Amino acid sequence: MIQSYKKKINIHNNYDIIMIGSGMGCLSAGAILAKEGKRILILERHYTPGGFTHVFKRKGYEWDVGIHYIGEVQRKNSAIRKIFDYITNSKLKWADMGKLYDRIIIGKKSYDFVKGVENFKNKILQYFPNEKVALDKYIDLIFTSNKAMGKFYISKALPNIIEKLLGGLMRKKYLYFSNQTTYEVLSRITKNEELIKVLTGQYGDYGLPPKQSSFAMHASVAKHYFDGGSFPVGGSSEIVKTIDPIIENALGTILVSAEVDRILIKNNTAFGVKMKDGKKFFAKTIISGTGIFNTYEKLIPTEVSRKYSLSSRLEKIKPSVAHGCLYIGLKGSPDDLKLPKNNLWIYPEEGDHDKCVTDYLNNKDAQFPVVYISFPSSKDPTWTKRYPNKSTIDIITLFPYELFSKWEGTKWMNRGREYENLKELLSKRMLDVLFNQLPNLKGKVVHYELSTPLTTKNFVNYKKGELYGIEHSPSRFNQKFLKPKTFISGLFLTGQDIVTAGVGGALFSGLITASSITGKNLLNKIYKHS
Ligand SMILES: Cc1cc2nc3c(=O)[nH]c(=O)nc-3n(C[C@H](O)[C@H](O)[C@H](O)COP(=O)(O)OP(=O)(O)OC[C@H]3O[C@@H](n4cnc5c(N)ncnc54)[C@H](O)[C@@H]3O)c2cc1C
Repeated sequence: MIQSYKKKINIHNNYDIIMIGSGMGCLSAGAILAKEGKRILILERHYTPGGFTHVFKRKGYEWDVGIHYIGEVQRKNSAIRKIFDYITNSKLKWADMGKLYDRIIIGKKSYDFVKGVENFKNKILQYFPNEKVALDKYIDLIFTSNKAMGKFYISKALPNIIEKLLGGLMRKKYLYFSNQTTYEVLSRITKNEELIKVLTGQYGDYGLPPKQSSFAMHASVAKHYFDGGSFPVGGSSEIVKTIDPIIENALGTILVSAEVDRILIKNNTAFGVKMKDGKKFFAKTIISGTGIFNTYEKLIPTEVSRKYSLSSRLEKIKPSVAHGCLYIGLKGSPDDLKLPKNNLWIYPEEGDHDKCVTDYLNNKDAQFPVVYISFPSSKDPTWTKRYPNKSTIDIITLFPYELFSKWEGTKWMNRGREYENLKELLSKRMLDVLFNQLPNLKGKVVHYELSTPLTTKNFVNYKKGELYGIEHSPSRFNQKFLKPKTFISGLFLTGQDIVTAGVGGALFSGLITASSITGKNLLNKIYKHS
């Protein structure tokens, strides 16, 4: 049954703007538009709001699903921090993870990514003393690519006619970087494969290994964390908690367990939505933050989709990889267990990242091509007060959707013995990786629970349980239809698919969607406001 997220409120039939999904993109657009005086209705199919920013609780523990660290928020004048402060009235606080944010472990060697670009460079130089020229060039390319990024995304918010005139020019510089793979760029500046493997040691943050990923995406993630990482104080659920009052203040609301079945369209104009239970809501503006495949394959009528050849456009993009996450509960506080704040990225000793992924996809018993271990309870300064004598750890790796597709159509928590056995096997393998790194944790684990691509599909509705929406290949950046304005009047898109994966990407997508709808330079307004 459709429910209000917080308390009993009056639900109306008409709103200024209806948003489908309550991920970071919709929350960001929703708060910005609420501040423009719009009455917003956010409809979320899950029983809890936030999309990948939601948390879940079990057996007295709490886990964050899609946030482990966010960059750039520690700097008060960064665009990301300014937008967060604007949409939460500065109520959302950030806990800095400290000097070391990522540790890359390849076989028996480990490499630390430390805060501050000069520190980062000097640290990497300690491991690769002969690579100064390559590292200087690398950092330079990261910054040049990111400098070109702003205009690329702003062009997506321009009115059609201006976009036709200026868009090409605004996109050109960024496309130079996005059209090359990460490996193409890195292999031109160094022949040292070990250095390339280390520098791309965060590829799990965007899901594609270096020979397949766009360099622009790599550059954006690498720079995002150059100033270190932060975690929301109080956990990820603080994001929705601090944004909700802004939406409510403009008489809007967030509804959960509220699945949209169809966007109502007449004469090529969107005018409302029909819910799974048949109820209808109406608005002149509809925003979908459910991902491009959900929006164009499920939510709009087939005849509209046919009219604009949407399926042939969708053929040019692919869902990103799927993942599994082992959510672990331990006895003992993060201090007792000596849990670090930094993340661990663990890779096989042999082979480059692409080969490790291919080997694993061809043989599910091969070593995991990447294992990411995050320690959320040690990142949040309020954790120990909220959950005394407890700690949590998340372990993530790639799981091909096909490994689980035969259980498609079965129900969550009731998929049968064979599925549970497979999960147990994979959980044990993931725990082995953890104990190999931190043997002191043996005997401290009191609960673990593995999510699979079917879990992601069940809760966040991505058709192949994809981790990051559509994949970040070079061709993605050439798809001009990945922008807020759609072919249907009154229907807009937001979320990671129109910018990139990452909380920062989705946050920014909300800004460009709101700018596209209002025709205002809202980034300017946000900067002036602070
Ligand atoms: C395991 C994992 C770890 C991550 N770690 C980080 C990290 O450390 N740092 C970082 O910056 N980013 C991280 N990310 C990425 C980041 O969380 C996402 O890119 C971002 O949150 C996506 O936001 P979004 O707005 O696109 O929407 P999503 O969060 O994808 O939300 C879409 C929402 O739409 C809803 N929906 C779908 N269909 C319907 C419908 N028919 N009716 C109503 N609602 C519907 C879904 O239920 C969902 O709530 C991680 C992601 C994952 C999966």
